[in-house]
Amino acid sequence: MSMRSIVISMDGVSTINYEVPLEYGAARILSSNPSVPVRFMNLNGHEAVGNLWSDRERIAAYFHIRKEEIIKKMLHAISHPTRPIEVDRPQFFDNIKESFDLRELPIPKLFPGDAGRYVTAAVAVAEFGGKRNLSFHRLMLLDDRRFAIRLVPRHLYTMYKSSISEGKDLPVAFCIGVCPSILLAAATSLEYGQDEMEIASSLRQSTLGDPVHVASTKSGIIVPAYSEFVLEGRITAETAEEGPFVDITGTYDKKRMQPVVEIDTIYSVDSPMFHIVLPGSIEHYMLMGLPREPLIYRTVNQVVPYVHNVRLTEGGCCWLHGIVSITKNKEGDGVNAIMAAFTGHPSMKKVTIVDNDIDVYDDREVEWAVATRFQAKKGLIVIDDAAGSTLDPSSDGLTSKVGIDATKPMGGEDFDRVKAP
Ligand code: MN
Repeated sequence: MSMRSIVISMDGVSTINYEVPLEYGAARILSSNPSVPVRFMNLNGHEAVGNLWSDRERIAAYFHIRKEEIIKKMLHAISHPTRPIEVDRPQFFDNIKESFDLRELPIPKLFPGDAGRYVTAAVAVAEFGGKRNLSFHRLMLLDDRRFAIRLVPRHLYTMYKSSISEGKDLPVAFCIGVCPSILLAAATSLEYGQDEMEIASSLRQSTLGDPVHVASTKSGIIVPAYSEFVLEGRITAETAEEGPFVDITGTYDKKRMQPVVEIDTIYSVDSPMFHIVLPGSIEHYMLMGLPREPLIYRTVNQVVPYVHNVRLTEGGCCWLHGIVSITKNKEGDGVNAIMAAFTGHPSMKKVTIVDNDIDVYDDREVEWAVATRFQAKKGLIVIDDAAGSTLDPSSDGLTSKVGIDATKPMGGEDFDRVKAP
C-alpha cells in the first residue's frame, strides 16, 4: 500500500491540468476558490496542491472526529506524547539529489510585492542539545541552493543561536507534504524541549490508531517518513534580506535581515506533490490558528471550571480574535477567563467570553451575545502596551488588548433567548 501524506482522493478536489504560471498563477487560482482543495498537475513541471486543509470539518474528518473534538484530542496529545515508529527505508529515499537547482522546484511567487519565490508549507525539523523541534518557517528562495528563513525568536531560533555561538551551522530538514498530525503539532506553541513529533504521534495514535512513522535522513535528522519532499541543509551564520511577504493578515510583513539556509540534499518520493499554503487563506488560518485553540482552552480552564469551546475567528485571521464559551461559577469568571485567554495565546488582541448557549462557530450568535449581555462599563477590559503579534500592521510593536465579557450575570434568566413554543 502506498502511504502518502497528501490525501488527494478526497471529494471536491479541483484539478488544474494546464500549466500554471509560477508567478501569481497558483495564488490566483487558490484565492478564487478559497475553500476548494486544488491539485496543480503542472507547476514548473511538478505537481502541487493547495487549499488542502482549508476547512475545519475537513481536518476533523481526516481524524475521524467532529470539529468540536479537535481541541480535546490535541490537549490529550500534548499531555500524552507518544514515541513515533522508525522505519528503515522511507519512500523519499527513492529520489536523492545532491546536485540540484532549487529554482526548478514548484516554488511560486505569490503576490506582486513579495520579495521573491517562497516555500510556505515547510515544517522545519531540528535537533540540538538532545532536544527536537518542529516548526513552520517561510523560506525565501535566494538561488540554486539557498533560502533566507524567517526565524521568529522562538525554539528554532534558540537552537540556531546556540549552535552558531559554538561556531557550527544548525542542521535542519524541511519537510514539505506532510500529514495533518504533523502540520497541527508543528504549529502548536509549547515549552522549549517539548517534542512536537511526539505530540503529532500521539494525536495520530488516539484518532487513527497508529503513531507517526519517522525515518532518518542520511545525515541523521529524524523526519516524518511520509514527507513528499525533504530539503536537508544547515542554517548558517550568514544573513540576507528577507521580505516583504504577505503573511496571515493578508498584508505585507516587512523586510528584515534573516539567516541564510544552505540546502545540501533533496529527497523526494516518486511524482512528489509540493504543498503550497497561500498566505492569508483559510488553509493558512486553519493550520496556524487552530493549534492555538487548545492552548487557550488550557489556560482558561485553569481559572474557570467549565470551558466548553474556543475558536479563533476567520474575521480575525484565526490569529488575532478569539471566542471562548464557559459556564460561570461566580461573578467575575468572565473577566478571569479574559485574562487567562490572553496568556494562552499572546498574539491574540481581542477575546470575547460567552455562555455555553452561544455557538462559538456562529459569528452572529456571538454578536447577539455582545449586543444583549454586554455593557462596556462593566465587561470591557483594555490592556495597553502589551507585546502582541508582529504580523498586525496596526501594532507599533506594542498592542492594546481588548476583552469583552459577554456572559450573562449569574442566574440571569432574563438574558436567555426565548424560543417559540
Ligand atoms: Mn517547539
